[in-house]
Amino acid sequence: MTYAYDDQNIFAKILRAEIPNDTVLETEHSLAFNDIQPQAPVHVLVIPKGPYVCYDHFAQTASDAEIADYTRAIGEVCKLKGLDQDGFRLISNAGDHGVQEVPHLHVHILAGRPLGRMLQKA
Ligand code: 5GP
Repeated sequence: MTYAYDDQNIFAKILRAEIPNDTVLETEHSLAFNDIQPQAPVHVLVIPKGPYVCYDHFAQTASDAEIADYTRAIGEVCKLKGLDQDGFRLISNAGDHGVQEVPHLHVHILAGRPLGRMLQKA
């Protein structure tokens, strides 16, 4: 599978500072910011700065430095938000079946209340 990256997606515009974001953390290769429509008291999106559509695209083609930076950025957000006490959920939607709205890789970090079971029946 080859992925075509659309550089007009909303997160690409955030990375180019064409639209604002509420930044939680910025690193060399990653950006974390609050979701505009939070689904939980903590709802942070973490994105790589590179043009990756979804998680498998990133995992298959990003450099080791990008992957290490991204993984560490997720860990740092969890630390900044104190999520080691009550836990959290990490979600990365991909494609149609994953119901991915924005075609730039992002993980959702959700926390701050009991989040219920992982999946609902469709
Ligand atoms: P997806 O369904 O692609 O996994 O999730 C996309 C997420 O991006 C949604 O939770 C949505 O609220 C969030 N989102 C969409 N547009 C914006 C925006 O302009 N700014 C921010 N901070 N979040 C956005």
